[in-house]
Amino acid sequence: MKKIKSMQLVFATNNLHKVIEINQILRGVDLDNYEVVTMKEIGHTTDLPETHETILENAIEKAVYLNKNYYVSCFSEDTGLEIDALNGKPGVHTAHYSGTRDPKSNIECVLTEMGETTRRSARFRTVICLILNGQQHIFEGVCEGIIRFEPSGTQGFGYDPIFQPEGYDKTFAELPFDIKNKISHRGKATEKLIAFLKSNG
Ligand code: IMP
Repeated sequence: MKKIKSMQLVFATNNLHKVIEINQILRGVDLDNYEVVTMKEIGHTTDLPETHETILENAIEKAVYLNKNYYVSCFSEDTGLEIDALNGKPGVHTAHYSGTRDPKSNIECVLTEMGETTRRSARFRTVICLILNGQQHIFEGVCEGIIRFEPSGTQGFGYDPIFQPEGYDKTFAELPFDIKNKISHRGKATEKLIAFLKSNG
């Protein structure tokens, strides 16, 4: 018999890649009373506002927008790539670092700015903001790694072809999705969200 879920949680994003990854991570997880739905399912199809200079503030802004406009419980996520040789850039500007959202141009821009430097350390940081019954909760996930000199691999999205996570000799774009989801910034932040929801079911 199908279990009836009593609480809908809207995932505040239009990014199909993020929706796919969150669904992969949640597959097989019993969220007790919660059912995760997309913004499309509640009739919202435009981009959410992201007007701040930190990923934390942007994550909060997106979740608050959805909560205030649709009176729903929801969670948002914002992600930034921090490259040490670029003083933490692209950071909050990760999505459109080259001035466009085109991933190839963004990768090219990062590789050009880094040049031949051997200082390749970097990390992805994800902040999830959950608004549940009007209360805000923040979960963070970080994945350390290095930036390759050239793109490699075809899986995933965004900067995956140039990001090699610590402990692996392949880029995110070369690794199977279940490994990426286990070790990634988004995977770690989502695990914390899941643990919270389970203990507040
Ligand atoms: P935002 O969180 O929607 O502001 O977008 C952040 C941007 O970071 C995305 O458009 C991607 O270019 C990039 N990004 C986010 N997560 C990942 C990831 O898991 N792998 C590679 N790039 C990512």
